[in-house]
Amino acid sequence: MPVWVGFSTRVDPDGSVKLLDGIPLAEGVDAVAEEDIDLISIMHTDVKAIEKSFKIVVEHWSGHLGTYAHSGRWEDPEWIYGPMSEATYACEAAKWLDLGAQVIGGCCGTGPEHIRALGDMLQQRPR
Ligand SMILES: [Zn+2]
Repeated sequence: MPVWVGFSTRVDPDGSVKLLDGIPLAEGVDAVAEEDIDLISIMHTDVKAIEKSFKIVVEHWSGHLGTYAHSGRWEDPEWIYGPMSEATYACEAAKWLDLGAQVIGGCCGTGPEHIRALGDMLQQRPR
């Protein structure tokens, strides 16, 4: 059975990429890099943090990459949907493909329209 590992990350004000509990992403990747895993996903992570997170993952691991990013933020008791348009999400996703992503979905603040826009972008993308 394929094993995927997901990390939720954030970019701190100093530019460092951390897991949500404050551990550097690089340490998280190093902790699983020797395991028999098939894909590392940056998940439940703000769209703006994906690119920096991917760059760290590929410095520390050489397998398949994926992401499902989110838009907006949690304010108890509910998710506050971000202003991320479907077209903008698809445009960001094209950059993730260029960085090596092979699996892309959507997390909090995205919906079927975002996934449809991803599909449209993939259809139009040169192969
Ligand atoms: Zn999420």
